[in-house]
Amino acid sequence: MNRIEDLRRMLQRIDHKSYGMYKSLAGAYDCGRYVLHIDHVQGDPFASPSRLRFEIKKASHGFPEEYWNTRNRKLALEDQVLRRFNGFLRKMDRGNMGSGKSGRISTCRTGQKVMERIAVTFSENRMELRFEMGFPARGRTILADEMNRLVFDILPKLAQGCLLYKNWDAKSRERLQAAIDLADDQEALREELVRRHLAAFVADGAVLPRESGVSDLPMRNAVAFRSPETLRTEISLPHKGKITGMGIPEGITVIVGGGYHGKSTLLKALEQGVYNHIAGDGREYVVSRDYAMKIRAEDGRSVLHTDISLFINHLPNGQDTTDFSTENASGSTSQAANLIEALETGSRLLLLDEDTSATNFMIRDKVMARLVSDDREPITTLLRHIRSLYEKHGISFVIVVGSSGDYLSVADHVLQMDHYETKDVAQAARAICREEQIDGQYPAGELTFPVFSRALHPARAGRLKMKAMGTDTVLIDREAVDVRYLEQLSDDGQTVGLAYLMNWILTNQKAKMPVAGLLDEIYDQIEKKGFGTFVPPNYSCGHPVLPRKQELFACLNRYRKARIVRE
Ligand code: ADP
Ligand code: MG
Repeated sequence: MNRIEDLRRMLQRIDHKSYGMYKSLAGAYDCGRYVLHIDHVQGDPFASPSRLRFEIKKASHGFPEEYWNTRNRKLALEDQVLRRFNGFLRKMDRGNMGSGKSGRISTCRTGQKVMERIAVTFSENRMELRFEMGFPARGRTILADEMNRLVFDILPKLAQGCLLYKNWDAKSRERLQAAIDLADDQEALREELVRRHLAAFVADGAVLPRESGVSDLPMRNAVAFRSPETLRTEISLPHKGKITGMGIPEGITVIVGGGYHGKSTLLKALEQGVYNHIAGDGREYVVSRDYAMKIRAEDGRSVLHTDISLFINHLPNGQDTTDFSTENASGSTSQAANLIEALETGSRLLLLDEDTSATNFMIRDKVMARLVSDDREPITTLLRHIRSLYEKHGISFVIVVGSSGDYLSVADHVLQMDHYETKDVAQAARAICREEQIDGQYPAGELTFPVFSRALHPARAGRLKMKAMGTDTVLIDREAVDVRYLEQLSDDGQTVGLAYLMNWILTNQKAKMPVAGLLDEIYDQIEKKGFGTFVPPNYSCGHPVLPRKQELFACLNRYRKARIVRE
């Protein structure tokens, strides 16, 4: 391996030469305690910046082993190291170093959640930290002095300050310890959900609303969450000790309330409760079962060989709905497909909001049934199946309902949002259902549970061009996969992650596999070997963050060229 001093000599040789000569610097450099890798050199100062990586052995970084020997803690540690690195970058003003991105150093941004990112990874014997740096130039002329300053002054400061635990000051260590403790507590809380058969838990004092529709930061001066007494649950966490909050039991929970009283905000918090939030977010102790899926209407999505016959039958064009494909689904068929596919990934908690649902999928009233007879209506509403989906198949629902009163008759629990306060109104709801004689009108009947027999053929793809755009689109060669309605996709980097995982599937899958089984296998591997194994070392697009299996599955289902077949 080169030593870092060699780089000084190499730089001298290419000073003031043409930018392309920077390519000769690619490689690994021994810097004593750590190694600097130059993994990819940009083609010109305006191109996306060069990719670099610090690598440091376990014995040198010195982070206590108990911080990274469980997955949950490791993610918290990686998150803290990344936040510190970003903090250093913010503080260091390097001024302008030349044209384009000259001298600019950046890495993966962090948000309100702790996620698996490949920017910082701890493994059995080392830690790696990835970042980008614009190699400096004037026009296309190499500026070796500036590059020297970056490599011999700025990078060492970053490395010393972030990679070595001994250089973390007392306050930073405290913050790190707190993040590790929080990770433990969140894990314990999630285990408690399973043990107590809860679908979700919302802690007293939690701050659910966000600053704005485009910000994930907590709203200031929000009304803090307070649990209704009847559902108040006390949970003891290893570090924080006893906390109380609302335990939403498995079953069918309906959230009602007037417009603008906070219904969707509560549901959103549950959607995002599949992720762990950082200290100060307000949702630290708001968790839902990890397989929770938001189910909404999504007109225009494509569907590939999905059995939606549970909800849709006898289409006017005679199409077989046990093996349903379309390039352009309607509101109800898209929502049916979304629901069935969620079950196919093994989700047993579905979250719906009347605001984003197809009305005819949710409900059909008696007046309409008189005019349009049942045999002319392809849709069987969710209302008809919901009791047996729960009672016979263990699928829980949390549904926000503003106007479809019939849902009260199928609910196990009814919550009312009233000026952002949560009230348990189950008894009142039950009394009204009796008065209106609608109790028990949708009993758990027989239903034919869909058969999940879809398989994915290996693609014949060679190299694919992948690109991610915000949290909206994954581009695979020129084919756009629309993921904007996957509302639980919560970080730009996850879309990048989807692009790489899709790429992996399309280029590495060897044999025909059941779709859900294939994904289970991939996520098993990720758990064992880390997400990094699925991202090529010379990755070139954004900062990959691990999406959930559910969103990868959803992405695959929306990829019109996926070779999905029904067995
Ligand atoms: P709904 O779905 O019942 O119509 P939303 O959940 O969309 O209502 O909330 C309406 C508005 O109230 C939103 O702007 C939201 O940010 C705000 N809001 C929600 N919960 C709170 C709260 N606990 N404190 C303060 N504002 C809140
Ligand atoms: Mg709403």
